[in-house]
Amino acid sequence: MPEELNPFKISQQQLDNAAEIMKLDRVAHKILREPVRTLIVNIPVKTNGSAEVFTGFRVQYNDARGPGKGGIRYHPKESLDTVKALAAWMTWKTALANIPYGGAKGGVICNPKELNDTTLEILSRGYIRALGRFIGPKTDIPAPDVYTNPQIMAWMMDEYSRLVGHDEFGVITGKPLDIWGSEGRFDSTAMGGMYVLRESAKELDIDLRNATVAIQGFGNAGNFAFELVKKLFGSKIVAVSDSIGGVYSGEGLDYEKLVRTKKNGSITAYEKGEKISNKELLTEDVDILIPAAIENQITKSNADNVKAKIVLELANGPVTPDADKILFEKGILDLPDFLVNAGGVIVSYFEWVQNTGNYYWSEEDVYKRLDSIITKSFIDVMSMQQKYSAMRKKISPRTAAYIVAVERVAKAMKVRGWY
Ligand code: GLU
Repeated sequence: MPEELNPFKISQQQLDNAAEIMKLDRVAHKILREPVRTLIVNIPVKTNGSAEVFTGFRVQYNDARGPGKGGIRYHPKESLDTVKALAAWMTWKTALANIPYGGAKGGVICNPKELNDTTLEILSRGYIRALGRFIGPKTDIPAPDVYTNPQIMAWMMDEYSRLVGHDEFGVITGKPLDIWGSEGRFDSTAMGGMYVLRESAKELDIDLRNATVAIQGFGNAGNFAFELVKKLFGSKIVAVSDSIGGVYSGEGLDYEKLVRTKKNGSITAYEKGEKISNKELLTEDVDILIPAAIENQITKSNADNVKAKIVLELANGPVTPDADKILFEKGILDLPDFLVNAGGVIVSYFEWVQNTGNYYWSEEDVYKRLDSIITKSFIDVMSMQQKYSAMRKKISPRTAAYIVAVERVAKAMKVRGWY
């Protein structure tokens, strides 16, 4: 991977940039450039007659504001640097949302598409046995992420409960409802993004009912975003893609038909419209662009061709720092990932609160509370941008979001006496 696309280097670069502008204390900066704890484990998995060893990671980036929090990814190309970057972004995400957590992330190098359910269960339980003594409802609380799901969370919660000798529902979030997951958790990432979209459209005077939208990705985030943009705002989604490729139709795409097409493989088999590549999708002439797939999609080589007025980063890390600058100079409102996609972890927080109090809320309650927290984060970012603009310093929403988050974490470390 070229150095400029190394996610951990990118996360450090973003921090350095904010640190310089906000004049962050030197030692606080040094602490925040690296994770406080990095765990690497080897997990033997023995099934009928064969055995394999998988490598797993858990990075606890910072816990000054509360226990580590963040998902676990299963990915054939998982790397420690990616997990470190994602753990850093979780730290800024929970701080910006102002929920009582630090940041963490986990990963296992594996291809879940090639593993059957039995192997997947043994691997998931093995991951928890290897890391059991380092996680817990008061230390570090994992959740789903790329290629992990509520079933995997259920196995993990069960394994942890066996290790400690009692049910411990609050050790993992994103669980199935049957074992006290939260209402509204399944589409919470996309839902949170929708509240941010609503606020930013107000800011730019865009009427979402007449807006056109392109969504990169049709997984957990992209699929629900598609459904919600249509349902909540009535916008027209003209382009969508999955890992194979995308489709474009000026008339707008039909959600039900896309879901049916996807069931048989890829959305590229959609009967109408024009086939486009994932790259082409990013530069379509639309009002709103939602990258909802993976990191490093908008880079210095294509940022100049982005035509959208708003880029809503529902994926983690879709825009590189070079591209960030270009989008900002072009006057595009690029809303950073750790603001836009915080809905998942915010509802995870609600799940953990409900598990701790053993009292459960309605879906309506969950969405209402999510709306108020994420809308407040959006306002905090805009206010920070204005504060700097009053000092004649133009900063991007990402830098403003960093300053809000880093300030909160630095204050917690300071008052705890870490520097
Ligand atoms: N994996 C999600 C994220 O990147 C959710 C994490 C969580 O719920 O803890 O924000």
